[in-house]
Amino acid sequence: MNGKPVPPHRQAIRHAELDWRTDDGDVEAPFSTAYDDVYFSRQDGREETRFVFIDNNDLPQRLAAWREPRPFTIGETGFGTGLNMVCAWACFDANAPAEARLHLISTEKHPLTRDALARAWRSWPPLSRQAAALLDQWPPAVAGVHRLRLDDRVILDLHFGDAAECLDRLDGQVDAWFLDGFAPSKNPDMWRPELFTAMANASRPGATFATFTCAGFVRRGLSAAGFRWRKVPGFGRKREMLRGEHDPDASTAARTSSARAATPWFQPPPPRPADHVAVIGAGIAGTSVAAALARRGSRVTLIDRGSIAAGASGNPQAALYVKMAIEPNLQSRFYLAALLYTQRWLARLDPERRWWSDCGLLQLAGKAGDVERQQRFLAHYQLPPSVVAASDPSLVTTLAGVELHRHALHYPLAGWVDPVALCRHLAATPGIELRQAGLGSLRETDAGWRLALGRGSLHVDQVVFATGHASRHWLDGLPIQPVRGQISTLSLTPDCGSGTVPSLDRVLCAEGYVMPPRDGRLIFGATFSPNDDDDTVRSSDHRRNLEELARLLPTMAESLAGRSPEACSGRASIRAASPDKTPYAGPLPEFDRWRQDYAVLGKDAKRSFDQPGSHYPGLWVSTAHGSRGMVSAPLCAELIASRIHDEPMPLERELVDHLHPGRRIVADLIRGR
Ligand code: SAM
Repeated sequence: MNGKPVPPHRQAIRHAELDWRTDDGDVEAPFSTAYDDVYFSRQDGREETRFVFIDNNDLPQRLAAWREPRPFTIGETGFGTGLNMVCAWACFDANAPAEARLHLISTEKHPLTRDALARAWRSWPPLSRQAAALLDQWPPAVAGVHRLRLDDRVILDLHFGDAAECLDRLDGQVDAWFLDGFAPSKNPDMWRPELFTAMANASRPGATFATFTCAGFVRRGLSAAGFRWRKVPGFGRKREMLRGEHDPDASTAARTSSARAATPWFQPPPPRPADHVAVIGAGIAGTSVAAALARRGSRVTLIDRGSIAAGASGNPQAALYVKMAIEPNLQSRFYLAALLYTQRWLARLDPERRWWSDCGLLQLAGKAGDVERQQRFLAHYQLPPSVVAASDPSLVTTLAGVELHRHALHYPLAGWVDPVALCRHLAATPGIELRQAGLGSLRETDAGWRLALGRGSLHVDQVVFATGHASRHWLDGLPIQPVRGQISTLSLTPDCGSGTVPSLDRVLCAEGYVMPPRDGRLIFGATFSPNDDDDTVRSSDHRRNLEELARLLPTMAESLAGRSPEACSGRASIRAASPDKTPYAGPLPEFDRWRQDYAVLGKDAKRSFDQPGSHYPGLWVSTAHGSRGMVSAPLCAELIASRIHDEPMPLERELVDHLHPGRRIVADLIRGR
């Protein structure tokens, strides 16, 4: 080590080190051996949470009075067992009006394992419903944001990492803070000034806080960041604790300017009404954004000139997987977050796995140097084996259920999805109306947008474009490249010798991929032809896919020997790709204005600006998902719906910015293009 701090996204997340203690024989509670401190009072943890955090933030009254369309948002340092957050959820259920929503954000440096969490929750049978929702979706120990939908009205964002660092990267605002964490004397590193500054920057006007401690340096840190505090009686034997609120007018040195001071172009547009939203395009990008909006109460008209999933999302089986760069970068961090999010999201949508499977995926090492590259990848990312692990040829053979003499990376959570079934399921979300029509024109009105649709028209508050490669037509200025891809299908019926065809238990991929057979069909592919927008099926592409299948799975290729391209059926479609291969997800920039407003960047890349980027009011885009849309589109949908509904983002700020549809303009200006 050269002494340089490890950037937060490179830090491996280590689980909590625990001991289990029972004082009076009834409640068994975790105790941190690393910090030498308790997670909660063994006498009455729930009562302590209610007293310290719930009542001292006035949550029962504030939640009962909550009438905003956006969710009430609570932020916490130190998720631990989740007792505080779950009690806040129970308080919300007991007090808030039916249409209110709750957003919970909690940071955690050393998450409990799932088993430890389950053990801790055995102490609270009355909260077993909430505990089950948490346990079902408990994420692996991976740094970054993990969004869990606890129920229809409640979201929990778990930010794994150090609290100050996570809150510094938070793209969202908080109404009430639970300042928890082990005692400042045992964990001074957490309670540092940067934490209070990050909290101040993420506070809504009038945000309150409560904490069990009264330590002098905590009081001073809070004051310096612009929080007013007062001492109030503490819980049980504790004499005092602190409660207070953030003073938005506090002229403190610690209060920094906007988190996007250096990149004002990414400043999001102000919220506007979203009662009725049109989503153009009924592929995975459009149906996922439509469902995310409808679940938040928007009325959605989902518009497509064809049927659901008629374009690039229409293959019968798609791999749930992305190949990541050997060293973490913004793009690979996004795709990793997206893979984990999509897996959780699908498990909620289809718990019976009727139209998707998390059977696991093997990324085979084939070319010279691949094994060494895979090892470097694992060393750089430090991911838990439940996410990815190296497998030697014998393990690969066991996992695949077929003889394979190759090393591989095994992704146990990956697999495949039936995209058409998924898109249909999403389009059937209550609140979505499907309209089969071509978009003729779009005109801004005083209160939104008027869409000409065939012989009719529609007036909406906002519009989301999820139009794949056709986005080139609508979103002039957004660089999009068409990429043709063809898959091949072989039928494994007895007359084709299926008796000798080995089964396959995992998705295999290298240059191409092959899926476990489904309904007697073997699907493999796909070709990748940039700048080709012809979607007719080609025999030459079947031949290429068969050659790749033979490399991936020689035994299966042997048993299918003699199968000519003519024996294959298949499907070709045109995907949309961006020049940097990251999707576009966010508000639609006024491209020409950006080029004028920030032109000086061409001469002076360090120039600072005050004015935020201009965006077309109420226009959004989710496109350029390339061949990885099954992984990327659901998280992009969540991001767009969260922004439209003025909620915290499901990703760190720099990843939100990395997806911004205007990023290329700024990058090009800086490079002098
Ligand atoms: N709120 C928790 C509950 O409801 O169970 C109890 C929190 S426990 C007292 C303190 C938590 O803070 C532990 O889970 C610990 O791992 C976490 N923690 C300690 N230092 C941290 C840091 N720098 N950043 C984020 N979390 C931290």
